[in-house]
Amino acid sequence: MSFLKVLAVAAKRGRATIRYPLEPPLVTPFFRGKISVDPSKCIGCGACARICPPRAIELVREDNRFVLRYFIGRCIFCGMCADTCPQQAIEVSHEFELATPRLEDLYEEVIHRPATCSVCGEPYLPRKLVEKAIESSGMEVARERLEMCPQCRRISTAQVIASSRLRFGSDLLEAGEVEERRS
Ligand code: SF4
Ligand code: SF4
Repeated sequence: MSFLKVLAVAAKRGRATIRYPLEPPLVTPFFRGKISVDPSKCIGCGACARICPPRAIELVREDNRFVLRYFIGRCIFCGMCADTCPQQAIEVSHEFELATPRLEDLYEEVIHRPATCSVCGEPYLPRKLVEKAIESSGMEVARERLEMCPQCRRISTAQVIASSRLRFGSDLLEAGEVEERRS
């Protein structure tokens, strides 16, 4: 097609592009921009961090707190974190104009208070997550177990098993002695 023909077709069809940034960008309803985490809904379960393909979200323990950290510079705007979050705490926004000269502007954080182990006092999980687990279990007996760190829970479980075996063993011995006396 000659150049003149191209010009004629373009003149007939009109402009196909918009004058962004001189006019608002074309953002469709399903457009995926940066995510935002609602701190009041987030329980610090870390599901979003585990599913995130480029690891743009991480859940880390720093001193005596847990931090859910979102690094916008790595985000590929796939929305998988929002689909995965059990608390519906993540929203995918239409925001995409994210350029900044300050690196720290590309980080967003949700700070979680820790749950401390009822035995050794070590912080082991975000407090809200432990409370949610206790509430979901619906059993007050679960509180005692869930308020221990994994290490202390393992030790406590081993002690319970060992003492029940001892009881079982002494019950067997007692039964054997009774039988012996009868015969
Ligand atoms: S999945 Fe949701 S609730 Fe869990 S840490 Fe991420 S934002 Fe918070
Ligand atoms: S939108 Fe995708 S890449 Fe961005 S934080 Fe969520 S899961 Fe990670």
